[in-house]
Amino acid sequence: MLGPSPPEAPADFRRSQELRDAHGRVITDLRLSVTDRCNFRCTYCLEPGTKFLPRQELLHRDEYLRLVQAAVGVGIRTLRLTGGEPTLYPELDELIKDLGQLELDDMAMTTNGWSVTRDRSRRWLDAGLRRLTFSLDTLQEDRMQTITRSRTTVREVLDSIMTARDSGFPRPKVNMVVMTDVNHDEVADFAALARTHDLDVRFIEFMPLDSGRNWEAENVFTMKQVQQTIEKRWPLKRSSGDAPHSTSTNWLFADDAPGKVGFISPVSSPFCGACNRLRVTAEGKIRPCLFSHAEWDVRPLLRRGLDESSLQEFLIDAAWNKPRGHDIGNAEFQPPERTMSAIGG
Ligand code: SAM
Ligand code: SF4
Repeated sequence: MLGPSPPEAPADFRRSQELRDAHGRVITDLRLSVTDRCNFRCTYCLEPGTKFLPRQELLHRDEYLRLVQAAVGVGIRTLRLTGGEPTLYPELDELIKDLGQLELDDMAMTTNGWSVTRDRSRRWLDAGLRRLTFSLDTLQEDRMQTITRSRTTVREVLDSIMTARDSGFPRPKVNMVVMTDVNHDEVADFAALARTHDLDVRFIEFMPLDSGRNWEAENVFTMKQVQQTIEKRWPLKRSSGDAPHSTSTNWLFADDAPGKVGFISPVSSPFCGACNRLRVTAEGKIRPCLFSHAEWDVRPLLRRGLDESSLQEFLIDAAWNKPRGHDIGNAEFQPPERTMSAIGG
């Protein structure tokens, strides 16, 4: 049986063979989660004891491929692989190779950096992965254990970042989720890291997507606060050439030191008006927004062998139903049931 489908887009939207929403935005970016599993339990994301999906619930490699192939046919140009922790997906190398054959302008992946070796980096690059983003929230070893609740060290993640770059990935991005009284005192250290190692450090506001439901507005260290902290030591200048749908505002150091910093402010200053993204969870739920309560199951279509045009119609309908924005700031805001590691950031 097929599950609930997204409400149908008007006929002219369906004919356009593009992913457009009812608010005039064109969707060109797909975030594909390839597993809900993770070897970390970051306090702001995933609680110990969280149950992962049985493997048979997840899409198979050929299903991910068929879905992305269909999406490319209706205008998806850029793809990001994520999770859970995508490097735990057993067929990741093969999947990257398959996806590398598609006509995409960019394929990137986000990882916690627990283990990125030279061999793997080279294989991924050869297969068509263009960029890597690493998550790292502290440069202090004891804090690393507290935040990630894993045995992976800061040193290991930094080694992964340098290995990726030495293997040929362009300037890696480093995502830091900044939380008041948890790691906000390390903002300047991360800016220094960007300068010393010519990295692109993205500071992200803590979003109400943690599975422990511990998010409080007071824990959000806003991007204004991050910028003020950095500029006390190093004035910044706006970097030209941000893509219109970039999730971050990007800055260079005014003294022309190497490195970049970016500010991602979904809480204090949402960027929904320029959002061009559609998300697919590891088990095939299409989500039009990180904060949506609605999601639609494409897996039955894939498992019943429906043709590419049926998949494309499904994607067109899902994109058309993308909400105008989220309302984190409002008193009525309700976080989605599905939390970050089960969506894919
Ligand atoms: N496991 C990989 C990693 O951590 O890079 C990929 C998946 S993770 C869900 C993707 C991104 O979401 C990471 O950069 C992580 O820091 C971010 N993230 C997770 N929970 C978050 C939250 N509650 N607020 C803001 N960012 C969050
Ligand atoms: Fe795992 Fe990434 Fe979530 Fe941390 S942020 S628990 S590494 S999915």
